[in-house]
Amino acid sequence: MDKIEHIGIAVKDLEKSNSLFASLFGEPHYKMEEVASEGVKTSFFKTGPNKIELLEATKPDSPIAKFIEKKGEGIHHIAFAVDDIVSEIARLKKEGFTVLNETPKKGADNKLVAFLHPKTTNGVLIELCQEIV
Ligand code: ZN
Repeated sequence: MDKIEHIGIAVKDLEKSNSLFASLFGEPHYKMEEVASEGVKTSFFKTGPNKIELLEATKPDSPIAKFIEKKGEGIHHIAFAVDDIVSEIARLKKEGFTVLNETPKKGADNKLVAFLHPKTTNGVLIELCQEIV
């Protein structure tokens, strides 16, 4: 596993949060993208070498909607960059982690992604992401 690729933050109102985080970082988001299959609209910010992804639910049964219902707004996941997501999934399964989607899927920002169940990672949802080249 490589560096933290981004941190995902669940928000109720993406428009409001876009201006909030633009004020925080002193720069607006650099892209927005909807991932229809996940029921989310995302917005990306850069600050120095770091990336922040804001996530807003686009439908009531979206994982983000359920997360906010249970825990409120806040840090939703930490994403780590990987070079080879398929072999990393196999390695982590062997280590006993529960992988939510064993076949990597297309996420936002031109990435193949997979998630580890928080119950096997001390309550933190971990995302693996591999750049699609
Ligand atoms: Zn993410």
